[in-house]
Amino acid sequence: MRIDLHTHTTSSDGTLRPRDLMAHARETGLDIIALTDHDTTAGWVEAAEALPPGLTLVPGAELSCRYTAPDGRVIGLHMLALLFDPTDAALATAMRDVRTSRLHRAERMVAALVADGAPLTWDEVAERAQGASVGRPHIAAALVARGVVPTVDAAFRSEWLGERYRIEKADIDVFDAIDLVHNAGGVTVFAHPRAEKRGAVVTDAVIAELADAGLDAIEVDHPDHTADQRAATSAVAKECGLLTTGSSDFHGSHKTTKLGAEATDPEVYAALVARADSVPIRA
Ligand code: AMP
Ligand code: ZN
Ligand code: FE
Ligand code: FE
Repeated sequence: MRIDLHTHTTSSDGTLRPRDLMAHARETGLDIIALTDHDTTAGWVEAAEALPPGLTLVPGAELSCRYTAPDGRVIGLHMLALLFDPTDAALATAMRDVRTSRLHRAERMVAALVADGAPLTWDEVAERAQGASVGRPHIAAALVARGVVPTVDAAFRSEWLGERYRIEKADIDVFDAIDLVHNAGGVTVFAHPRAEKRGAVVTDAVIAELADAGLDAIEVDHPDHTADQRAATSAVAKECGLLTTGSSDFHGSHKTTKLGAEATDPEVYAALVARADSVPIRA
């Protein structure tokens, strides 16, 4: 049983269409795949309709969240939401607001790049995003196409989208996110909690606070986690009574990680499904 609980498609910043991701998942030998595009459920219907026999789809999303420390410092973090009701008005509105913010900040990032002489237009980025939940990888790919940087990864260095041209978006307070997902019948998984190359990460004490607030699980096996980070995450999960998952965070050609590169234990998967109101989708 091979289970990958975190993937992206062209509904956000992945490069495979939902239907092509489903076909790729089956070819790769996955049995269960969660679709977790950033702040959107737009890919669910296409994925469900294209589901090959033998593959189970766990509909989900990756919510852009923020944790505000007592001293006012803000740390961005990603929360996977699985098996929630996509028609829940409060959650759908929260995601729509983040997508609107994503669009405005992407336009401003491109304007800043253009002002500094980068050969780029907003239309080139919009063409890549195709109305999806737009993210820095779309801008990165446009910069690669223009030969400004050699790879998407290089575009994420601090002198480009990693820091200099990075603009914050209006993320969801992480405690609100946990409540929103639970009220919509879903379960929550704290994604790549120790991926430091994306910026500051929260302390173990914050993870304990999230667990107290009802967080269900935490991603231990993620391509951006070192062996030490995996061990430390496992330890804090055990202390806090959190389930632990593994997943590829597949983005197609926007990243080098292969689909199914990391996996979730079938028992953990069963426990997550048991906590959710809705059931995974089978062909
Ligand atoms: P955004 O959501 O617009 O802030 O962009 C963040 C997205 O970019 C996340 O989905 C990351 O997976 C992706 N990302 C972050 N760093 C890199 C990198 N070095 N190469 C490719 N994608 C990245
Ligand atoms: Zn992404
Ligand atoms: Fe993420
Ligand atoms: Fe992701």
